[in-house]
Amino acid sequence: MKRLIMARYGEIILKGLNRPVFEDALVKNIKGALRHCGEVNIHKAQANIYIEPADDEKTDEMVEILRHVFGVVSIIVAYEVEKDINAIQAACVEVFESALSSAKTFKVEAKRADKRFPLKSPEICMEVGGYILEHYHNLSVDVHNPEVTVNVDIREDKAYIHTGRIKGAGGMPAGTNGRAMLLLSGGIDSPVAGYMIAKRGVRLEAVHFFSYPYTSDRAKDKVMKLAKILASYTGGMKVHIVPFTDIQLEIRDKCPEEYMTLIMRRFMMQIAQRVAEKRDCKALVTGESIGQVASQTMNALAVTDDAVSMPVFRPVIGNDKEEIVEISRRIGTFETSILPYEDCCTVFTPKHPSTKPIIEKIVSAQEVLDVERLINEAVDGVETLWV
Ligand code: ATP
Ligand code: MG
Repeated sequence: MKRLIMARYGEIILKGLNRPVFEDALVKNIKGALRHCGEVNIHKAQANIYIEPADDEKTDEMVEILRHVFGVVSIIVAYEVEKDINAIQAACVEVFESALSSAKTFKVEAKRADKRFPLKSPEICMEVGGYILEHYHNLSVDVHNPEVTVNVDIREDKAYIHTGRIKGAGGMPAGTNGRAMLLLSGGIDSPVAGYMIAKRGVRLEAVHFFSYPYTSDRAKDKVMKLAKILASYTGGMKVHIVPFTDIQLEIRDKCPEEYMTLIMRRFMMQIAQRVAEKRDCKALVTGESIGQVASQTMNALAVTDDAVSMPVFRPVIGNDKEEIVEISRRIGTFETSILPYEDCCTVFTPKHPSTKPIIEKIVSAQEVLDVERLINEAVDGVETLWV
């Protein structure tokens, strides 16, 4: 019996003129994501993308991969059957044998998209349910809380039987909403921020500020590992590693200690903007959240924002840490984010950072530095990696 995967995409977006753009991007992204799974046959019909693996053994692995593809709302692993009630009954008993023979309760759910099919949905449930009961004496029907649900979908061309939907990542296909540059640290917040923006169809690239030898290669590896997890949702990502030590040392030596972090953050934003412009990214993304640390008070955020002209997206700005942690667990970045390697900011943290900074004071404190030269040198020293 033919086993295939059906990936359903959101119907709201389909109403607009963007439908073909959206669908083509999704099909392309799915093909890209599954490129290591051998030959697959893909076609689309009625808000579903049908994926047939040439090698059935790969199906579970493919489902895991598809759960990370933005734009896929839900996934079904189904068996394709002729639109004939006898064939459907026999198939249900055969393919769900292991689930049905070890359960106590079950129900059948039927959906009849093809109204030409002679039996209505409740009749399909009766026919299939009755047949299953004849074959498995261990079972009884429980419509409210069954251990196994056998789904029968009657579609245009064929009938499909399956045991339920798997939740997809949702959102919009990568590449359908432009490009942005994520400031990716090794922490919990910035990978979550990147995920949230990428989920809306935005292609991401990342900049990471690296303070060798104050931060170790292990800290860099950790960031690359986070980037790799994000890339599993975005279909690959460029990471630009920016040498940041010289700038930090200059700030430490020449600027007032209480402004150190904020001046540093202004540099980060400016450098990120430079790299973003080169890479045709139209916005910056950070993991800042109001009040989380001294550099994220309302005043401090205004000082940081003032350094750049590009829009800065801060998708976790209103989230509590706990909420951010919850998302990071769900998307799989948490365990990596909490590895203990130091971040470039923690090494150069003042004892008493200013929490109510005034923009003019920071800008004038920064004037002792040759800002343009420092930025140019940092940008010239960028090392770009692909994950
Ligand atoms: P996170 O958990 O994301 O590291 P944080 O709570 O530690 O955030 P900060 O260190 O103040 O907060 O950083 C705020 C934001 O600045 C981060 O979310 C990230 O977007 C950016 N950022 C901080 N450090 C770096 C870095 N070394 N490289 C790139 N971006 C950084
Ligand atoms: Mg951080």
